Amino acid sequence: MLFNELGLRTELETAVSEMGFEAPTPVQQKCIPIILEGNDIMGQAQTGTGKTAAFGIPAIQMLDESQKSVQILIMCPTRELAVQVSGELMKLSKHLENVGVVPVYGGQPIERQIKALKKGARIVVGTPGRVIDHLNRGTLKLDNLKMAVLDEADEMLNMGFREDIEEILDHAPVEIQKVMFSATNTPAIRSIMNKQMRDPQMITIDKQVSMDPDIEQYLVEVRDSMRSEAISRLMDVHHFQLGLIFCNTKRQVDDLLQDIRARGFSADAIHGDISQGGRDKVMKSFRNGDLDLLIATDVAARGIDVSGVDVVFNFDIPQDPEYYVHRIGRTGRAGRSGTAITFSAGRKRKNLKFIQKQAGVKLTPIPMPSMKDVEASRAEGMMSDIVEILEKGGLSSWIEHVETMAEHGYSPVEIAAACMKLQAGGEEEDSKALSQNGAGGPAKRGDSSMKSLYLSVGKKEKIRPGDIVGAIAGESGVPGDSIGEIEIFPKHTLVDVPADQAQHIIKVMNRSNIKGKKVRVKMDERQG
Ligand code: AMP
Repeated sequence: MLFNELGLRTELETAVSEMGFEAPTPVQQKCIPIILEGNDIMGQAQTGTGKTAAFGIPAIQMLDESQKSVQILIMCPTRELAVQVSGELMKLSKHLENVGVVPVYGGQPIERQIKALKKGARIVVGTPGRVIDHLNRGTLKLDNLKMAVLDEADEMLNMGFREDIEEILDHAPVEIQKVMFSATNTPAIRSIMNKQMRDPQMITIDKQVSMDPDIEQYLVEVRDSMRSEAISRLMDVHHFQLGLIFCNTKRQVDDLLQDIRARGFSADAIHGDISQGGRDKVMKSFRNGDLDLLIATDVAARGIDVSGVDVVFNFDIPQDPEYYVHRIGRTGRAGRSGTAITFSAGRKRKNLKFIQKQAGVKLTPIPMPSMKDVEASRAEGMMSDIVEILEKGGLSSWIEHVETMAEHGYSPVEIAAACMKLQAGGEEEDSKALSQNGAGGPAKRGDSSMKSLYLSVGKKEKIRPGDIVGAIAGESGVPGDSIGEIEIFPKHTLVDVPADQAQHIIKVMNRSNIKGKKVRVKMDERQG
């Protein structure tokens, strides 16, 4: 279901789109049509599921701005929630004139609230105590109320607000629509529901969703502002090749794309505002292995089926347990194990607890990698490259240089450490230098009986020359000893093959795997 199927007024639909919402969340899909039909409803929903818009959208849809009176009253247990809910309603009603969303809660000077109410409030969001205060002062009137919402009703009952709520509702016409949201369905909730509501429709939480047990699921607690840094470090430390990042809104996808690209990753994004052609193009490069990271909304990612996703990041906590299961199912496909990493902090912990309960999983907390971890991981990769070069031999000209430096009083250990540091600063360039002057000397490009091919796998995949020869000979039938120079770079490999076999090799290799990684093969563009 999409928002444009709900028949919303244009101003509301525009606002929803500007908020970056791609499609109604499951709670919204269930609740909005029922509320729009004028029914009373008791929705069992947690914070984080989109419940505010689930009642906010129909409330704004039914609002009559020409009528200067309070038409919607939303009661919340805490000042924080009242502020949050009124903020969301202000955004949803942004394109409508004369709405006037006024939060009223204890702790704020009452005069300011009285002034705001007098200016023509049509939606009031308040804590029960302060709402009663205004009713008693005559600064709030509910004679023309159309809808009352009890948000986090179970919390309000736990806090002893039952009498206050009933007193407030006594000030409103009996026939008004009543909407209640509660995370739990307790006897106290049912009792107030039976007393206050007419034929309420019940929206309960779906039964548990089932999970693929083969996915390692981790939780990283970081501040929101550190999430993209965390992705960058986790990609480096765990040597993930292909990652999928999920966000809840289109807007978040766009913002994050800029950030991730600025960190040097090859990344792209898909969401509902991107044309089908654009999405196809992105998906093609994702499948070809041209991207390190793809950023997506739940809806856009629904149709995609890609193999070889090492890791799924939940940049935002999903708004429904089922979304969580769908998202992480994108990794570890075809019998392989995968990794899912969810970011959480502060208040979001509660949402995540709920998801874990419903999905029957437990996320293992892991720390965000430190810069030291990133360095150690880079050093580890470098050391295995160094061992490879040592094993290949052919270092005599380099040894001479090192000996000259040693004569200047540097120890071999110091010289090696400096080389590693140099390498860490400019991996791509330096590895080219090492490779071209290493084992086999400079590659003999330009031999017309050979063509150079580009393969999209390299040191990051721990590819060795034997893997390349084995794969090409095995897939194409070209004898191993006819394969020429092989240069392995961090992310790609160049290999010389007999010129008359080059097209055949490209064709067969483009469908195959090397070390479990799908490989893209093409002519090396640097040759004539
Ligand atoms: P709530 O459960 O109302 O606290 O909402 C949690 C978050 O989800 C808020 O930041 C909302 O703005 C956001 N949200 C609500 N509806 C949607 C939607 N359909 N798509 C994406 N985000 C949403």
